[in-house]
Amino acid sequence: MKKHNFSAGPSILPTEVFEKAAAAVLNLNNTGLSILEISHRSKEFVAIMEEARALVLELLNLENKGYQVLFLQGGASLEFLRVPQNLMQVGGKAAFLDTGVWANGAMKVAQDFGETVIVASSKPKNYNYIPTDYTIPTDADYFHCTSNNTIYGTQMKTFPSTKAPVVCDMSSDIFSRSMDYSKFDLIYAGAQKNMGPAGTTLIIVKEAILGKNNRTIPNILNYQQHIAKESMYNTPPVFAIYTSLLTLQWLKSKGGIAGIEKLNETKANLLYTEIDRNPYFEGVANKADRSLMNVTFTLANPEHKETFDQLWQSANISGLNGHRSVGGYRASIYNAMPIESVEVLVATMQEFEKRII
Ligand code: PMP
Repeated sequence: MKKHNFSAGPSILPTEVFEKAAAAVLNLNNTGLSILEISHRSKEFVAIMEEARALVLELLNLENKGYQVLFLQGGASLEFLRVPQNLMQVGGKAAFLDTGVWANGAMKVAQDFGETVIVASSKPKNYNYIPTDYTIPTDADYFHCTSNNTIYGTQMKTFPSTKAPVVCDMSSDIFSRSMDYSKFDLIYAGAQKNMGPAGTTLIIVKEAILGKNNRTIPNILNYQQHIAKESMYNTPPVFAIYTSLLTLQWLKSKGGIAGIEKLNETKANLLYTEIDRNPYFEGVANKADRSLMNVTFTLANPEHKETFDQLWQSANISGLNGHRSVGGYRASIYNAMPIESVEVLVATMQEFEKRII
């Protein structure tokens, strides 16, 4: 029986995406070839890549605004390196909002390229909130932030306006909410949460910010090279890109981002309302900064852990354990998570309350 999968990533994808991806492993669109064996230079795959790139821009409302879309490899972690390599001047500096392990990781890699400035950090409170009130140095080569902090369940609701290009790691909330994406100059996201299987990273970059730093950039790390080669500088991860396309098509059929955003709000409300009502649970993240994608909570009394764990496991729920640096529980409720699964979790929390009383 299919589990209610609350895993933080790799994570749930829509059932129809699983089905279509499985069918394409045997026979891609009646080509008589598997998606796993098809040449990335074939007209079928080139069409898949083109449609995926176009859909990304369409869904984010970024068409004809000077953006390029890349599907590369190396996960979001490689973008921690590629971003400073492409954007930081020799002797330059970059500014970072430190909202967690991933934001901090991006900053640490950038330290090898120049000066890094932390404009604000929520580390003293174990990253349970998003700092506001900070100033970005006017001479920064770029400002880097993480829109959704997967581990702590916090999400940025507003973004600063600054002269410096804004770079955002959207790995765990890309395509989940409406906003003006043209505020960002470079967005990157590992596919494995809201878009597809692990194996490809989506990069959306405003072409005009590239080619301006005075460094020699190895081709494999150079965004301009990847743009020139249309994400085929080396063999692209064909299966991950095809499955991502299926998810993007599914998202469009659901009314695009505006459609899914409503559902995401409903799902998150359902769960946060229960966390706040049920005396046996406590939310982890500061209320104003709560993520609509990763809902973190703990037991009011840790001694009840065994009882709750048994309950959710027998309710066919999977992937609910919190990240080791936060503990407790984390329900990841990405775009593809059906509301019915969230209802099962809420019912399990209510059942737990009855058992404890
Ligand atoms: N950024 C964020 C916000 C993440 O959640 C993760 C992974 N969970 C990463 C970066 C690292 O991604 P990857 O494993 O694709 O390198």
